[in-house]
Amino acid sequence: MTTPAAEPAPAAVPAAPPRAWHAELAWLPGRGVCCDVLIEAAGDRFTAVTPEVRAADVADDLRAGMTRLPGLTLPGLANAHSHAFHRALRGITQVGLGTFWTWRERMYQVAAGLDPDSYLALARAVYAEMALAGITCVGEFHYLHHGPEGVPYADPNEMGRAVIAAAAQAGIRITLLDTCYLSGGLGPDGTPQPLTGSQLRFGDRDSEAWAARGEALGADEHGLLGPLARAGAAIHSVRAVPLDQMHPVIAWAHRYGAPLHAHLSEQRAENEASLAAYRRTPTEVLYDAGALGPRATAVHATHLVGHDVDLLGGSRTYACFCPTTEADLADGIGPARALATAGCPLTLGSDSQAVVDLFEEARRVELGERLASGQRGHFRAGELARAATTDGHASLGWPDAGEIAAGAIADLVTVALDSPRLAGATRKTALATVVFAGSAADVRHVVVGGQDLVADGQHRLVEDVPAALSASIRQVLR
Ligand SMILES: [Zn+2]
Repeated sequence: MTTPAAEPAPAAVPAAPPRAWHAELAWLPGRGVCCDVLIEAAGDRFTAVTPEVRAADVADDLRAGMTRLPGLTLPGLANAHSHAFHRALRGITQVGLGTFWTWRERMYQVAAGLDPDSYLALARAVYAEMALAGITCVGEFHYLHHGPEGVPYADPNEMGRAVIAAAAQAGIRITLLDTCYLSGGLGPDGTPQPLTGSQLRFGDRDSEAWAARGEALGADEHGLLGPLARAGAAIHSVRAVPLDQMHPVIAWAHRYGAPLHAHLSEQRAENEASLAAYRRTPTEVLYDAGALGPRATAVHATHLVGHDVDLLGGSRTYACFCPTTEADLADGIGPARALATAGCPLTLGSDSQAVVDLFEEARRVELGERLASGQRGHFRAGELARAATTDGHASLGWPDAGEIAAGAIADLVTVALDSPRLAGATRKTALATVVFAGSAADVRHVVVGGQDLVADGQHRLVEDVPAALSASIRQVLR
């Protein structure tokens, strides 16, 4: 049926004004680093990406609002594993001597002091620090769910919502990896040990209660919690979720097509506990439970034995490396090359926020292999950049982000090449120079969803990021 001529046409929805950036150099999928790249977007998507266009040749109407991006422009970086509140521990845990387990005790003390307001303030500042480092998407492995003694808040997702609000206020995407955490470890006979002390705040009654709380987050059928937020799930570890409690978490993730993450074999003690309890490695336990696969991420994957690598690679599970944290906690060096060769896409995380710098995480994957093997040349710069961008985003449930291509989500990060660290780079060496010598301090410009979030190194939503960090950390450590 045609519309009668007398009826007025529906009012047109005003389209978001098109945006354009002109990158001196940009890393493009399948093409490598290209010169003079005109990048156009409408709304939150790229509409066209055209190399070899001199800025002077751009059409007048587009050039008027065009932003020049000197340096190397990459897709936005994805931080696939974060515990925002650990940022308050930076420095503190370096004073004196200690072990992984004394570090963990200090971390519990910080966790004990957080409430929804102080968590929001701290996470907002931490995510702003991430934005300044070029991170446009964070996977928050979130287990600090409840109030003191484990008493739920009036809204049992209040802490999770604080984290989501923090990311929105800092202007970055978030996947809330809501974490099931039920036990304080496994006894020698496999009996789950009860949560104690501040661990009580992490626990739900059981994994059915965890799933009901996850349901109440209110994700839509695609798992979205907001324009920049999506829901994901996590099994804290084989130590913290007994085998017979894993199924509801896995089923919840399947229902929403959501990412499912788990800490895996970070410490040898975890392997020993799993072998004693189940006569299987943590990888085997997760594999047998149906927790591995192309939407799953194994975080750390450090102490793998037997056919663990084959199970992870064969199931196309992502392997998330957090090398600065793994070094800081003396975890060890995981088999990154073997995992990648077996079929695991690699991703990167700042984890304990020992530093927030994905370039440092990226190069340490290669440098760790060199130290462990006595040989150079395991990963090319492009493979490491892919871990920090395309694969990181996909592992967090944003498969249409992480590439500078028409149709993709319009997130960008530009690294200046005129800093003392990076001066001298050319088109041919720019990517390797940034990956192997760049730092968060070299990030100049960040775009999220077609909007400039960081311009000339200044965050546009959080005016003074260091002050926000100082104030929120002081409040937490009071
Ligand atoms: Zn972690």
